[in-house]
Amino acid sequence: MARTTRTPKPAYRPHVKLTRTYGVYRVESERAPGTYYTVDAVLDTCDCPAGDWGKVCKHRRLAVQVWEMHRRLRMATRRQQQEAAGAFPVAA
Ligand SMILES: [Zn+2]
Repeated sequence: MARTTRTPKPAYRPHVKLTRTYGVYRVESERAPGTYYTVDAVLDTCDCPAGDWGKVCKHRRLAVQVWEMHRRLRMATRRQQQEAAGAFPVAA
């Protein structure tokens, strides 16, 4: 059996920028580097052409992953802070 030699496609590893709005990220376009789409991970929307059609685009998937990671980090940080402060949550 002949081995198929396939040139691996470079992985889509776009740049993701934070914004001041909670859960909103700017995700770089795969086809047009330097172009950023605004993705709201909370509302699950993206302003790229595919997102406009209501499709789940890769920007949305990525932004949700980043958001989940941030939420986990935030929770971990809060727990550490509580532990450091004597284990009791401070009333907000
Ligand atoms: Zn998109």
